[in-house]
Parts: sequence; structure tokens; C-alpha cells
Amino acid sequence: MLKTVIKTLLLSVIGSGVAMAAKSDLPKQTLYYGGDILTMEGDRPHYVEAVLVKEGKIIHAGKKADAVNNYAGETVKVDLKGKTMMPSFFDPHGHLLLTTLLVAYADLNPPPIGRIDSIAKLKQALIDYKTSHHLGSDDWIIGMNYDDTGMKEQRHPTRWDLDEVSKTNPIYIMHSSSHFAVANSRALEIAGITEKTPDPSGGKFLRDEKGRLTGVMSEGAAFKQVMLKITTPKPEVALAAVKKTLLERFAAQGITTAQECGGALEGFIKLMQLAAKQKMLPIDVIAYPNAEEIGLMHKYPPSGQYDNRFRIAGMKLVLDGSIQGYTAYLSKPYFKIPKEFEPEPAQCQVGDKAALLIDESPSTHEKSPPPKKSEGYRGKPNFDQPGLEKIVNQAFANDWHLMVHCNGDAAADMTLEAVEKALGKYPNPDHRTTIIHAQTMREDQLDKTRKLNMALTLFPSHVYYWGDRHAKLFLGPERTKRMDPMRSVIERGIPYTIHTDSPVTPTNLLDAVQFAVNRTSIGGKVYGADQAMTPYEALKAITINAAWQHREEKAKGSIVPGKVADLVILSANPLKVNKNEIRKIKVNETIKEGQTIYRTAAITGSNEDAHGCIGPAGYRWCARTARCERPWELAEKEKFEKSEEAFGSFCDSK
Ligand SMILES: [Zn+2]
Repeated sequence: MLKTVIKTLLLSVIGSGVAMAAKSDLPKQTLYYGGDILTMEGDRPHYVEAVLVKEGKIIHAGKKADAVNNYAGETVKVDLKGKTMMPSFFDPHGHLLLTTLLVAYADLNPPPIGRIDSIAKLKQALIDYKTSHHLGSDDWIIGMNYDDTGMKEQRHPTRWDLDEVSKTNPIYIMHSSSHFAVANSRALEIAGITEKTPDPSGGKFLRDEKGRLTGVMSEGAAFKQVMLKITTPKPEVALAAVKKTLLERFAAQGITTAQECGGALEGFIKLMQLAAKQKMLPIDVIAYPNAEEIGLMHKYPPSGQYDNRFRIAGMKLVLDGSIQGYTAYLSKPYFKIPKEFEPEPAQCQVGDKAALLIDESPSTHEKSPPPKKSEGYRGKPNFDQPGLEKIVNQAFANDWHLMVHCNGDAAADMTLEAVEKALGKYPNPDHRTTIIHAQTMREDQLDKTRKLNMALTLFPSHVYYWGDRHAKLFLGPERTKRMDPMRSVIERGIPYTIHTDSPVTPTNLLDAVQFAVNRTSIGGKVYGADQAMTPYEALKAITINAAWQHREEKAKGSIVPGKVADLVILSANPLKVNKNEIRKIKVNETIKEGQTIYRTAAITGSNEDAHGCIGPAGYRWCARTARCERPWELAEKEKFEKSEEAFGSFCDSK
């Protein structure tokens, strides 16, 4: 305080030339005010008038006058103009690596996630990708996440479909489930796969009725033969793809901590360490190697400290699969078992796909094929109880934060038992072991979760994207109503977060907030209104609670002096809009450690800003004319200089 007073006095008495020099020595601070500033401290919404940020940290959160009076120095003032500021979002569970693949290669997802609902659109997307990426006539064209069940033809594309895209470029596309891939004739030729090539064990080259190869391959054992011929991008290309993903898919959604859960293979860890060394990560990245790669856990032990925005945070264990893939392990049979039992898009599968981005042989551990249908089919776990307990014990013995994927309640039973036993051997009241998804956990299991001091990260997007199909096919109406039992979790005081499982659903945590609050499906049905969260509870799930779940609550997740200035500016206050319109709120600005890393329409490819102006087409909002304008056109029309400054002073002044 005394120092500040002296500095202020000095500045006021010395000459202006000297003052300028002295001034530039003072680190700049930024004062935010003029809108709702939601701190996320406490059980009820709490607002402050102003936030002062200096050297990447929050130094004041309270009255604006106090900030002005107590903290002298050159201050950048940011009037929020009625917009809302809050802590930026912390992704409690997702897959950065898979999300990057979708950004780096042609995105073939069907609606509602993507737009590829026909073979014709799929072909066009690959042609567009070749053009926009300036590929030569023999470069590989790669596409991700096509889904035969999401296309009107209801079939896989064939080599002949892909040959219509190009006969000279090798083409390789992967199914969203990771269980299928398709190659065109050129790619098959490069891989040396001919009509005479036998099916490998555990895989199949599909054939038509005349016995000809269709180009469709099932399981990694088959499609690895093509994949291994694809050149992995150079590290600088892979790094650029990761950075683009972090900016466009995470920072643009207000997220400043991203997660790679389970796909932290050695190649990925090395890539991220290189990114950290080059200081090129725009946001924090936390990584969880898979328990099946236990050697990596010892080689790259988890740390609470970031190294230039990257850290290994703990270990991930995948105990079962996905409900819609009939691979989740349930205590009661699935509602309906389809005649043709084929896996649907599963969750959290990284394995083979990772080899498309990082320099590493495709994963050696094979996924076991889903079990055959039978009466009373309940799915099955990936580990038996002793196998699971061995891994859980290792996590507890080493104090690694453990995240366990359990979609089915039977898988959750196994995990609860394993954690209870591990706690007997390695008592730890603050272990924060987290069950991922926890979609079908029962009330008795939630009691035990609380007793064991465990945490949950829930997946409300499932109610929206799959709720209708869960009610009709997978779980039936009763179990669907209490999928992701959020109210039961909160009432017991269990630490919770919510996630999007990116890229299983889009990396948009405000979507997850809305789905947690209204529990409405795509079909417009509400499933289990009594299990809904309040908007404030849902916002806690992606800020302070998420920080807590990853042992970062002392540094992140709320606006209090001393915490990192990871902030977001939203077009509206999620607590004050209609609960069905939370998704419409735009992220206007994302701030990481005091630096703006995203501002609406600042990134090529983002469509429109809060005013609906299409940034990439050159349009910007002009308050004076109250419409989207192209600065150079407006300058001609209104006869002002063609400069940023002139556009600003014309448009900002009414
Ligand atoms: Zn996942």
C-alpha cells in the first residue's frame, strides 16, 4: 500500500517526460467493470462490481472505487457494457487428442454434431478437404467419424464411393466407433491388400455378394494394415493442429483448462512436452494416461505443478463401454437388444485413431469385441474384480488421482468395492477418486460414494443426444428418467462436475449446463425433471467444482484475489436468461492468466459474433449504425479514414 502511494505521488509531481518513462516501467493492470461479475464463490450467486487483474492474477474483486483508490499504476479499463464476466471453464472430462483429429482431418460426423447425412455429402466433404488443404494428387485424404447409422443410405461408404473422390489420392476414413474404417482402391493398393489377402485374426475385409473387396474393414487388426502406410504428420504440423484445436474448440468456448483423459499415450505426452517447451500452449492441458499403460505412469509421474501449461494429472481406467454401444456393464438387462447386434459409436476410444496424429505405432492392446446378445444381456466389464483392484491399489499406493469410466451401475459396484478395499490399505480422506459418466448409478451406490469420499463427473448431454433412444431401446423409460441422477448427487453433498466427453459431443460446456438444467432431449421430451440441476449448480460444475476435482481449487475456478486470472466474458448471464436459452449465450472473450486468447470472431472460421456479424466475411458490429458493417465500405460511405481507429471512433460514439 505504502509503495503504491509513493508511486502515485512520484507520478504526480515529476515532469511528464520522466513520468512517461516511469509509467512504462509499471506493469499494466486491467480493470473490468460495468456488467454482472459472477464470482462462483459460495453456495449462492455472488457478484462484485469490479475485478482488477495484474501479472496474470486477480488482485482485487470488489468495489470499483476500492480498485481505483488502492491500486495505482497504468490501468487498462474494460467496460463490460452489460455483459457477464465469470471464471472461465474447466473441462472435467474430455479427449483433446481425438478432438484434434477432428480438427486436423475432414470431419464426417452426422447431425446433430456434424452435417454428413449422406454418401454424397461425405464425398463432397473429402473433395472440399483436399481443396482447402491444398493437397497434391497423391497425398493422403483422411476423414474422421463417419457414421453409417447417421446417413440416409444406412450403409458404410465403399471403396467405389471413395474412388469417385479421387483415384490417385489414397483415401482413408474412420467410423466414429473406431471399429470400422474404409479405404479407396489406391489406399488398398498402397497397403498391398488384394482380393487374395486373407482376413487377419480379429479383423475382416468386408466383401460384396460377388466376393469383391468393398474397402470397408472391421477392427484394428484389418485397418491397421492401411493405417500404418499413412505418414504421421511432422511434430510441427501435429503441434499446429493441437494449438488450433485448443484455440478454436476450447478457448472459443470459454475453456482454459482442457483434458486428455485416457489417450495420454507416450507419443502424445512427448508432443505436449515439446509444446510446453516451446511455450505454445494457449491454455492449460491436463493428461491422464490409461491404466493399461501403467508403465507410463511411472515414467511420467503425475504432478500438481504445470510445466508451461501442461501436466500429467493422474490415471484413467476404462471399466466398461457405452450404453448406446451395448457395452456398458449394467446390473439389470438392457431394455431391448437389436436383432443385428452391432456396436454403435462408443465413448472414450482413443487407441487406433491416435496413430493418425502422433508418431507412435497403433496401440497394441486390442479392444475385446462386444459380447454376443443373449437373454438378459447386461454387458460386461473390461477387467475382473481382482484385476481392477490391483490397478486401484497402485493408484492409491502412489497417490495418483484416479478417474474410472463407469457407464453401467454394475461397473460402478465394482469400482466402489475396489476403492473401499484400497482405502482400507491406504487410508486417504482426500483422494478425490472420480467416477466418469456414472450415468446409471443407483441411490444405494450414491450413499456409498459419499461414504467413501468419492467424486462424480456426470454426462447430461446424454439426456439430450441419446435420451429418446435410451428410453426406447437401451434402458427403457424408467431408468432413462434417472440417468445422470444429478439431484440425488447434489443432495448427498457428493462433489460433482459435468462434462461433454469431447469429441463424443461438441466441446461446449454451456451446452452441458443447459442439458443439466432442463434435461430435455433432441425430440423435445423431458426425462427426469426432478433430477435437474439449478443453473448455478451447473455453472459450479464447470468452474470451481471442476477445479476441485483436479486439486486446483486454490488457483482456479472462482474470482477471488490471489487466483489465476482465467476469465470469460459472456453475452448474457446464464443465471438470468430463460433456462432453455443458456446454449444461445455467446462467449465474447476468453482470458487466460490475464491475456485475451479469444475474442468473438477473432478466429477465422468462427461464424458470427454476439451481434450476428460474420467475422470471417469482414463484418463487425457498429453501435452507431446498429448493424454489421464492413469497415472499408463504411469508411467510403461515411467518408472517414480507412483505419481501425477511425472505424472505432465512428462506430463507438453515438
Ligand atoms: Zn470419455
